[in-house]
Amino acid sequence: MIKETAKQIEERFSQIGFNIPISEIESRLDKLVNEFKVPPEEARRSVVNYFLKEYNIPRGDFYIQQGEVPTIKVSDITTEGKWINISAKVVQLWDNTHESIDQVGLIGDETGTIKFNKWAKAELPPLEEGKSYQFKNVVTDSYQERFQINFNRTSQIEEIQEDIEIGTQEVEFSGVMVDIQAGSGLIKRCTECNRALIKGVCGEHGKVEGTYDLRIKAVIDDGVSVQDALINREVTEQLTGITLDDAKQMATKELDQEVVLIKIKEGLLGKYYSIKGPRLDRYILVEQISPIPPMEADKVDALLTQLEA
Ligand SMILES: [Zn+2]
Repeated sequence: MIKETAKQIEERFSQIGFNIPISEIESRLDKLVNEFKVPPEEARRSVVNYFLKEYNIPRGDFYIQQGEVPTIKVSDITTEGKWINISAKVVQLWDNTHESIDQVGLIGDETGTIKFNKWAKAELPPLEEGKSYQFKNVVTDSYQERFQINFNRTSQIEEIQEDIEIGTQEVEFSGVMVDIQAGSGLIKRCTECNRALIKGVCGEHGKVEGTYDLRIKAVIDDGVSVQDALINREVTEQLTGITLDDAKQMATKELDQEVVLIKIKEGLLGKYYSIKGPRLDRYILVEQISPIPPMEADKVDALLTQLEA
């Protein structure tokens, strides 16, 4: 039984180009099953996971789908390791932090949103924020107790005309804007992958020209907890009265991008705001932000002082 399983595992790894000594697989299986009394199926999964991690192999490359791949919605994703088809809109692309990943961010449909990973090795077309796609042959996964979807080499991505509506739970948060973080203000994004550039350099594509964007990464404090907020260009323009064009002009005039951030900080820091939008991990993606009148803010302050007393 163990020998058989070990052979299957060894063969599958070999098919995708990794030669793992069968003795190593066998001894791990043996230990789990015979010493730790782990059920065989679980032992198998655990051993496979071990080598996937050890050799940095995307799960989707190892597990091949069986039978027809179901087309499902975001809210139907309740297990990892399932092959699915899904139509979704790219809600947001995040700053990439790992070289094995080509693009990372959030996609969603009317039932909710979910994180995605597009592996660099998958060689798939670049995704753009705000566009809707049909994703075929993608794999569900979980990371730190949250579900996500991985796009691998066998996945297909096709842009669709339909504008998928995102259904997410909106939350509200009110407090003082206590910080505006680095990477706010006038920024540049890579023209290829949309990542924010750091000093003109894309984590994936190196030194590139890039295109300008405007955003604010704010921290809001309600006296009890702090909340990170991401404010996109549209909302930033409304809030600050500085359009992307204004910002570019300011930066050109002063020969410094930082002037925009300084101006934004002057205008917003220390003021009370109420924000509204979908929550995403530690962020609220701000769709609406409105200043709280100082009178009301004073009342909140007084209330807080009373509570503390
Ligand atoms: Zn790039």
